[in-house]
Amino acid sequence: MIRLPGLIDPHVHVREPGQTHKEDWDTVTQAALAGGVTAILAMPNTKPPIFDHSTLDLALDAARQKARCDYAQFVGAGPDNADILPFIAPKAAGLKMYLDSTFGELRLNDMTLWQPHFEKYPKEYPIVLHSESRTMAAGILFAAIYDRPVHIAHISLREEVLLIKAAKEHGIKVTCEVCPHHLFLTKDDIPAISHGHPGRGEVRPRLATREDVDALWENLDVIDCFATDHAPHTIEEKDSDNPPPGFPGLETLLPLLLTAVDGGRLTTDDIIEKSVINPRKIFNIIEQPETWVEVDERAEYEIHAADQFTRCGWTPFEGWKVKGKVRKVVLRGKTVFEDGKLLVEKGYGQNIRER
Ligand SMILES: [Zn+2]
Repeated sequence: MIRLPGLIDPHVHVREPGQTHKEDWDTVTQAALAGGVTAILAMPNTKPPIFDHSTLDLALDAARQKARCDYAQFVGAGPDNADILPFIAPKAAGLKMYLDSTFGELRLNDMTLWQPHFEKYPKEYPIVLHSESRTMAAGILFAAIYDRPVHIAHISLREEVLLIKAAKEHGIKVTCEVCPHHLFLTKDDIPAISHGHPGRGEVRPRLATREDVDALWENLDVIDCFATDHAPHTIEEKDSDNPPPGFPGLETLLPLLLTAVDGGRLTTDDIIEKSVINPRKIFNIIEQPETWVEVDERAEYEIHAADQFTRCGWTPFEGWKVKGKVRKVVLRGKTVFEDGKLLVEKGYGQNIRER
């Protein structure tokens, strides 16, 4: 058995409010605990999106009633909420800015709409950018101009990791995360994921080339965090004519990483650094007392959606053979998960911004 601190996942789509047929604060936090994740940071692109006091309260009220692990909720940058967000910042996980295409209240059509957020959002609270390829370069320029930290979500490309490396070497305050699906899958895996339904391979950022994936592994020291970008959609939605992009990931994160440890590509210290220590630093998260995960590093098994707690009912890693199983999770002194069973009630989770 190996004992790890409780993992922190800084990038989770909870789907509540608004799309609880995909997932809600109850099922997502069950999935988290089953995966050895004891704290999640929730993304703001719900329905409605979380972008002011009342929408933040909507998400936090649901979380307070239902969450089984600890959590914080991001607020989203919109075209006209830069003035109110500094007052909300202490209650939020951070500010999420969608710099590439998105819709509705979180749409930032041009760079003049980025400026007020970079000027006004307090520097001691994190800004996370969804920014791909050259948009990411623009986001890093903003970090340099305004001399404040930014965290780049889900990098996937060789050009991205190499630019972040250069930016760090030049003292720009940039950090980044990578998702397991961008480390363990390439676009050549899409047919195998799809089982005849191409929508199952849809994810943003898209699965990349072998060269991109190799560059992420070669530059693991540049990568600060592992993040799942857990983005549950039901199997019916994925197999429809208009499949939404996104993969679930909370329950496959640790088994995939432990399998990489077994294969000599990663160390358990890498997991602790990128899933515990760095997320704590970047997102100002205090240590969860008496919190740990017991892992049987020798247990070999197959990943099956039928065994998962997420409501979405599928996984891109169906049938994968992995080595390393979460046996037991203890959160703030209480055994919350053991041998496949959830042992904690709804509402046990705490808002890490209220402690
Ligand atoms: Zn996301």
